[in-house]
Amino acid sequence: MVQIIRATEMGFCMGVRRAVQIMEGEASPENPVYSVGEIVHNPHVVRGLERGGVRQLPGPDDIDGDVGVATAERVKQGRVAITAHGVGERVMRELNSSGLNVIDTTCPIVTRAQRYGQKFVRDGWHVLIFGDPGHKEVRGIMGWTLDKEGASHATIMESTDLGALRTLVETFPGGFPNKVGVMAQTTHKMENFAKFVGNLMLLQRDHNFEFHVVNTLCHATTGQQEAAAALAATVDVMVVVGGRKSANTRHLKEVCEEQGTRAYHIEGPEELEAGWFQDISRVGLTAGASTPDYSIDEVEARIRELAPA
Ligand code: SF4
Repeated sequence: MVQIIRATEMGFCMGVRRAVQIMEGEASPENPVYSVGEIVHNPHVVRGLERGGVRQLPGPDDIDGDVGVATAERVKQGRVAITAHGVGERVMRELNSSGLNVIDTTCPIVTRAQRYGQKFVRDGWHVLIFGDPGHKEVRGIMGWTLDKEGASHATIMESTDLGALRTLVETFPGGFPNKVGVMAQTTHKMENFAKFVGNLMLLQRDHNFEFHVVNTLCHATTGQQEAAAALAATVDVMVVVGGRKSANTRHLKEVCEEQGTRAYHIEGPEELEAGWFQDISRVGLTAGASTPDYSIDEVEARIRELAPA
């Protein structure tokens, strides 16, 4: 009989659970709330909220121009919700000044990262963000690093590679800033951020700059990654449940594979294949921070159907 073992930490994190609860409490089909962009990176959760009256508008992932202005033009009056990933300062200001009722569900851990970015710039430091330049949370943090003229004082870097960092330092337009505040996308892997910071220290030997690091990583994410890695080391195959666009879910799959364990990232039980569970005895199950409990239960039930008795 194939044994299915769940990671000790998995699924909905505090920030996503809080955002979903706020939206569920505020919205109804008769009195909708308009969400600025995808509510969470999980299509099952999004569909459930839509049935409850949350209407999803194009957000920072979909609009190149001014998200605040575009949203205010679409929603002439009513309530708009900022999602757990947060938005930049200008978007927030535009929404607030447009007369709309703004419900802010930004995760407090993301808000903390935004405040650090803002403080670094106010104190005259350049901000170096270790993260995915295309990720909504990172662009939101970037939006809190603008000066009074609206110019950004942040650089986003995703590579931990020493050579890539050296190139950044040595070819930075106008010379690399001599005071640099370093922070990370909240859902990045701790080992990678540590490597990033370590390589900056190596570069400091040959280049004249000072840097301060704030650990903006989310404990929920690092706890889930540690639990996934520990479980992956003891099973034959790992199933990771979560939205395709969910960065933390993708990282969970990576940490499982780093243990040398076969791992599959799925959004729902319909993607499971019987062949994955042939000739094995232990299946590990984990899920990203935006994956609801019922999705995990459905996946576990389907594995039981597919796995040979
Ligand atoms: S993963 Fe962490 S930072 Fe992101 S929403 Fe959840 S609690 Fe907040």
